[in-house]
Amino acid sequence: MNNYFRSHVDAMASYVPGEQPPRGTQIIKLNSNENPYPPSPVALAVLQNIDGERLRRYPEPFGEEFRQAASQVLGVPHDWIIVGNGSDELLNVVIRACAEPGRKVVYPMPTYVLYRTLTEAQAADITEIPYHEDYSFPLEELIAADGCVTFIASPNSPSGHVVSINDLRKLASQLSGVLVIDEAYTDFAQENALALVEEFENIIAIRTLSKGYSLAGLRLGFGVANPKLLQGLFKVKDSYNIDAIACAVGAAAITDQAYKNACVDKIKASRTQLATDLKKLGFRVWDSQTNFLLVQPPQRNAEYLYQKLKEQKILIRYFKQPELEDKLRITVGTDEQNHTLVQALSNLLETGD
Ligand SMILES: *Cc1c(COP(=O)(O)O)cnc(C)c1O
Repeated sequence: MNNYFRSHVDAMASYVPGEQPPRGTQIIKLNSNENPYPPSPVALAVLQNIDGERLRRYPEPFGEEFRQAASQVLGVPHDWIIVGNGSDELLNVVIRACAEPGRKVVYPMPTYVLYRTLTEAQAADITEIPYHEDYSFPLEELIAADGCVTFIASPNSPSGHVVSINDLRKLASQLSGVLVIDEAYTDFAQENALALVEEFENIIAIRTLSKGYSLAGLRLGFGVANPKLLQGLFKVKDSYNIDAIACAVGAAAITDQAYKNACVDKIKASRTQLATDLKKLGFRVWDSQTNFLLVQPPQRNAEYLYQKLKEQKILIRYFKQPELEDKLRITVGTDEQNHTLVQALSNLLETGD
C-alpha cells in the first residue's frame, strides 16, 4: 500500500477498547465499566419524544440545553462548561488545542490508555511517569516534567484510587500548562476536584454521562473550566459536536440526580460485597472509588482466568502490559452478575492451571 499516513500515525498502535459483543449476545459484560442499570426513565421519556423538527435542523453548537441543566446541578455558571461527544472527544480537544511536536504531554502510569493514543496522533512528545508501587502520587516527578498538558484520571483507571485534592492543588499551582482532571468515575467517589476549577485557570475537570448515568451509548461528556481556558478549546471542537438527541436526553439525565444516586448507591453496595467475596477466594483487591475493582488472583494466573471466563461468556478486562499482566479489572455488575462471576472464578481456582 502507498504510504498515505503521517509518520506518527503510521508508527502508532491503535487504541484497543474493551470488546463490545454484537447486540443480543448473551453475555455478562464486566469489561468496559458500563453501568448495569438502565438510564433514567425521565431521560428515556425525553428520548421517546424527540420530534422530527429538532432533527431536521442543526443542533445548537454549544449544547446549551445540557449546559443549563449541568449548571443548575453543579452550581457553576453555564459558560464554565464545555460539552463533548463523549468525554473522549474533550480529551482530544485539549490535546489538539495545546499539544504539538516538541511539547510534552505528561501522565502517570498505569492510567487510561487513550491519553497515549491521542498524544501520538498529535505527534507531541510523551512523558509517562510510573505511579509508586502502592499507587501513591508521583507529585514531584509530575511537577518536574511540566507538561503542556498533564492528564490525571481521578479516580484512576485501572487502579480505582482517588488523587487527593491537596496533591492536585499543588500540581496545578506548579504547572505552566493545562491540568486535565479526568473525573469519569467521580459519581462513585467520595470527593471530587470541581472546587479547584475556580481556584486555577489551568484546570479542566472532565466528566461523562457514560458511567454514573448509564449512557455510554449516547456519547455525552462535559468539561468544567475557566472561560479563559474554554475559549481556546471551543476553537478546535467540531462546530456541531453535540447532536440534538444527546443534548436533550443528557439534560434530562443529569437533572434526575435522585435516580443516578440510587443506582450509584446500589453499585457501591455491590462493590463492597464483590470485594469481600473475591478476598475470600484469595484475591488481592485494591480499594476502589469507582464502579470497578482491580484485583490480583491468588495464583497470579490473570490471563488464564480472563480467557476461561470468556469461554463461559463472562467478559472482564485483562491488560497485557507490564505492571498489569498479573491483574484483572472487573466492572461491578448487578449482584446476580457478580455472584455468577464469583462462582465461575471459584470453580476455575479449584481446578487450577
Ligand atoms: C470511560 C472513561 C472515559 C470515557 O468516557 P466517554 O465519555 O464515554 O468518552 C474517559 N476517561 C476515563 C478514565 C474513562 O474510564
